[in-house]
Amino acid sequence: MSSDQSLPPGLHPDTLAVRVGIDPSQYGENSEALYLTSCFVQPDAETSAQRFAQPDLGYTYSRTANPSVTAFERRLAALEGAEAAIGTATGMSAILLMGLGLLKSGDHVVCSRSMFGSTIRLLGGEFGKFGVETTFVSQTDVAEWQAAVRPNTRLLFAETPTNPLTEVCDIAALSKMAHAAGALLAVDNVFATPVLQKPLALGADLVVHSGTKFLDGQGRVMAGALCGSKKLIDEVFAPLIRTAGMVLAPFNAWVVHKGMETLAVRVRSQSDNALHIARWLEAHAAVDRVFYPGLPSHPQHALAMAQQGGVGGAVIAFSVKAGSPSQARARAFHVIDSTRVCSIATNLGDVKTLICHPASTSHGRLSEDQRQAAGVVQGLIRLAVGLEHADDIRDDLARGLDDCHNY
Ligand SMILES: *Cc1c(COP(=O)(O)O)cnc(C)c1O
Repeated sequence: MSSDQSLPPGLHPDTLAVRVGIDPSQYGENSEALYLTSCFVQPDAETSAQRFAQPDLGYTYSRTANPSVTAFERRLAALEGAEAAIGTATGMSAILLMGLGLLKSGDHVVCSRSMFGSTIRLLGGEFGKFGVETTFVSQTDVAEWQAAVRPNTRLLFAETPTNPLTEVCDIAALSKMAHAAGALLAVDNVFATPVLQKPLALGADLVVHSGTKFLDGQGRVMAGALCGSKKLIDEVFAPLIRTAGMVLAPFNAWVVHKGMETLAVRVRSQSDNALHIARWLEAHAAVDRVFYPGLPSHPQHALAMAQQGGVGGAVIAFSVKAGSPSQARARAFHVIDSTRVCSIATNLGDVKTLICHPASTSHGRLSEDQRQAAGVVQGLIRLAVGLEHADDIRDDLARGLDDCHNY
C-alpha cells in the first residue's frame, strides 16, 4: 500500500496534521483524493487471493481497508504519537471495538463515573450482558481507582477532561496503576485532542477518539478511532473490525482527514475564547459555579495545566443559581433559549458555539441517581465554545443570565 515515507523525520505536529496521509494518485492531486468505492479491482486471481489472506498487500473491500480511511488513520496516529490507528464509524463504536477486542466474560473494567453518558451505558449496561463487570469510581480520587482494581481487571478507562464537568484525572498515575495490575489504560482524548494532550506519552496504551468532535471541527460527519501500538491495532482490532463491520465510511474519513489540517489553530483559538468567557461567567451574579480547567478555581487546575500544555480546552460547564432543582432547570432553559448566536445542540468541537442542557440531553437517559453521582444537576449548562468573537458569545449568554432572577 502507498505510504508517505518521503516526509523527513522530526516534523512538528502542525506539519504532520497537514502533510501525513497516503501518496497522491497518478494524477498528482494536492488535496487528498476521496476513494468513494466499496471494492477494488484486482489485477488477477492470484493477487486477489494474496490480498485477501494478507490485507496489507493491497485493497480489496472497504470493510477491510480503504485508502481514504488509511489516510485518516495515519494522520491521527501521527498527531497522537501512536504507532497505528484504526478508524471506526463513531466514537462509541471505537469504544465498542476496544471492549470486544480486549475483554471476555469474567473480565473487569474500572472507569470513572463521570464519563460520557453513552460510555457509562455501554460499559455498565450492554457489556454486563456478556459477563464483563465495570466498577465506576471517582474521576479524581486515585485511591478509589486503586481500591477498585482486582486480579481480573483488564482495563482502566479514563476520560479527561470529562463531559460536561471538565474534571481532570492524572493519566500518568493511572497508567502506572494499570500496568502494575497487568491491565491496560485507555484514555478518551475527545475533549483535549492531541493538540493539548498526548495520553500515550503519559503512559496510556490506547487513545479513544470521536472524530465527530474537534477532529472534524465543523460538525459535519460522525467518525471515531482507536490509537495504540501497531501490534494491538494490526493483530487485535483490524481483524475484529473487518468481521464486526463498524468501519469508518470513506467519505467521513476524508472529511475528518481534511478537518485535522486546521485542528491545532481551531483548538487554540476556541480555547482562548473559552478562557475569556469562563472568566466572565465566574464574575456573573447569576452564575453559581463555573467548571473550566483553565480557571485557577478549578479543583484540578494545576494538574490540568501540566497535562494539557497550559490550555483549558474549549468546553465550559456552568450552573445557574436557583432555590430548587425545578427552578434551576427553568433558569437554565431560559439562558439557553435566550441565545441568538449559539446553536442549541448536543455536540462539541464545532467552530459554531453550541449550548446544551446535559441533564436532559447527553445525560438524559441516565437515572436521577446516576446523574447526581455524575454531578449533572438541573441548573447545569454546557458551552462548547466555537470561533465566533468571544464578546458576541458573552453578550449572547448575558441576554438570559441578566434577567435569570425573574424565572
Ligand atoms: C461524543 C463523545 C463520544 C462518542 O462519540 P460519537 O462519535 O458521538 O459516537 C465519546 N466520548 C466523548 C468524550 C464524547 O464527547
